[in-house]
Amino acid sequence: MDRKRIYLCLAHMSGKEQDFIKEAFDTNWVVPLGPNVNAFEKSLQDFLIENGKLKIENEGKQVVALSAGTAALHLGLILLGVQAGDEVICQSFTFCASANPVTYLGATAVFVDSEEDTWNMNPVLLEEAIRDRIAKTGREPKAIIPVHLYGMPAKMDEICAVAEKYGIPVLEDAAEALGSEYKGQKCGTFGKFGALSFNGNKMITTSGGGALIVPDEKAKKAAMFYATQAREPYPYYQHEKIGYNYRMSNICAGIGLGQMTVLEEHVAHHRHVHELYEQAFANVKGIELKSNPDERFNANYWLCTILIDKEETGVDCEELRVFLDRKGIETRPLWKPMHLQPVFAGSPCYVDGTSEKLFEKGLCIPAGPCVTDEDVAYIVSEIKSCICK
Ligand SMILES: *Cc1c(COP(=O)(O)O)cnc(C)c1O
Repeated sequence: MDRKRIYLCLAHMSGKEQDFIKEAFDTNWVVPLGPNVNAFEKSLQDFLIENGKLKIENEGKQVVALSAGTAALHLGLILLGVQAGDEVICQSFTFCASANPVTYLGATAVFVDSEEDTWNMNPVLLEEAIRDRIAKTGREPKAIIPVHLYGMPAKMDEICAVAEKYGIPVLEDAAEALGSEYKGQKCGTFGKFGALSFNGNKMITTSGGGALIVPDEKAKKAAMFYATQAREPYPYYQHEKIGYNYRMSNICAGIGLGQMTVLEEHVAHHRHVHELYEQAFANVKGIELKSNPDERFNANYWLCTILIDKEETGVDCEELRVFLDRKGIETRPLWKPMHLQPVFAGSPCYVDGTSEKLFEKGLCIPAGPCVTDEDVAYIVSEIKSCICK
């Protein structure tokens, strides 16, 4: 069979990336600052804030381009004053990069399980966790990191209400959610800080990169200070804080600028692919496609995801994954919850079995810009042929 292998989410170039990179070379801006970085930040800002339907109080938000989404989360925690010995509440059902930066700082990640509607942080468990941490440690956790997993917005009204009640700032992990909206507002702009990723397989790529969405100009200055080795304003190199080398290269930002010209197209394509799956799986017993729970949610469907009911289909998700792999279709188990990861074995967790069940039953299926209508038809027919055997 000489069908091309179908991947989950391949990078897809607009063609304009190389023009921006060439200009950077021609003008010798081959450094981690420059016109492409500034223009990329402005373009993201326009997309997230000016074009989104933001509340007035959020209008001062700014974007800082960085070397990775993980770096953005790390800097966000630093700007929130997280230090060794502190606790930070994380979503358990996520990629490790949501929680690792907490550990970089010597703080402890406290894991909270997901709810069924969005697969994201359960606001009821969140409040239980906060109360219990206060009872056990005598102080509030320093931050809350909800995630918009697979591009599905978390229940931000409920999460922010709990956060406000206890005076704990929110750092949104929107790494998978560029273009997703909750009640018409772009994901990443709800928390005090928000993190984006432009890794190779995300909604857009800079070959590797990220951004921190910050509340104002002052926070932007602070983020840039820490992202460029915390250099004090002296003629010589004076350092009073520990800094990082986290700025985005002007070359990578050139790729990002090219990608911004196709971002809306990418988001529309992911949603189109989801719609095709939705129609195709409507009458398939035992396969449940994840969709927006109600009209507040407008996912970008970065990856489409399904739950497989073994009783109904006769196969479990690993059998289906291996079968599809042989047919040239890449799929992947859902994220293994952090509270089940050996590396986080000692971390407190507040779980009710939801993410464990999702991990057991779920698969990511291809949804990227290179997935055609014909690919979707092929994927669906192979899934059907596997479960009907
Ligand atoms: C990709 C990802 C990150 C990290 O982004 P990088 O750019 O790869 O460092 C963080 N959180 C989640 C949920 C992600 O999917």
